[in-house]
Parts: sequence; structure tokens; C-alpha cells
Amino acid sequence: MKGLAIAFIDESRCVGCARCLAACPTDAIVGARNFTHTVIAARCIGCRLCLDPCPVDCIAMRPAPEELQPQTPEAKSARIAQIRRWVQAKRRRLAQEAQARRARLEAKKAICR
Ligand code: SF4
Ligand code: SF4
Repeated sequence: MKGLAIAFIDESRCVGCARCLAACPTDAIVGARNFTHTVIAARCIGCRLCLDPCPVDCIAMRPAPEELQPQTPEAKSARIAQIRRWVQAKRRRLAQEAQARRARLEAKKAICR
């Protein structure tokens, strides 16, 4: 496939397991457990990390529309900077969620003591 390929979810086959959500480094997939999921095309970087976790193989790569493919060096730099911000935002969110889980666990342990 030439140029950027982005992920596309066949929503008629999606079983809403949400496994693809965790795999996506840019939070390009939206949906909730037990509901169909979809890809925000503009956030997809074509890394393919969502493909393997999908138990029903309903995610496929398709050529990205031309407007999503940066054409100039400036546009490419801006896109890379944006991708970094998305990846960092996801890492921060995961770290905050892990910290909140640890705090809840500690609170439960304190009650049991
Ligand atoms: S290809 Fe990568 S960026 Fe695109 S939806 Fe899948 S995991 Fe996310
Ligand atoms: S991993 Fe596949 S079946 Fe599960 S939510 Fe994602 S697209 Fe749907």
C-alpha cells in the first residue's frame, strides 16, 4: 500500500470488546465496552498495533485520504509534533489511572486492617 494507511473498523462485525482501545498509542479509537468502536481517521498514524488484539479480525488498513497526508516539510513536522502530544497525553492518562487504582487499593486495604 503506497502512502499512509489508516485503520478502519467494520462496525457490523465489531463485538465491542475494547481490546483495540488499549493498543492504540494515539487514542484514535473511540467506543465503550459492549458497543461498536470506530477510528478517528485524523488521529490514526497507521501503526497497525490495533490489528492483532482484535478477536474477530474486523480492523483493516485502508489508504488514508489525501487531506490526511502531509505534503510539505512544515506540514510533516507539525504532524509529528501533534502525534507526540497525543502519545504523551495517553501516557499521562494511563499513569494517572494507575495511580488512582493504587490509591483505591490502598484505601480498601486500610479498611480491612
Ligand atoms: S493503526 Fe495505530 S494509530 Fe491507527 S487506530 Fe490502529 S493502533 Fe491506533
Ligand atoms: S478489538 Fe475488534 S471487536 Fe474489539 S472493540 Fe476493537 S474493533 Fe471491536
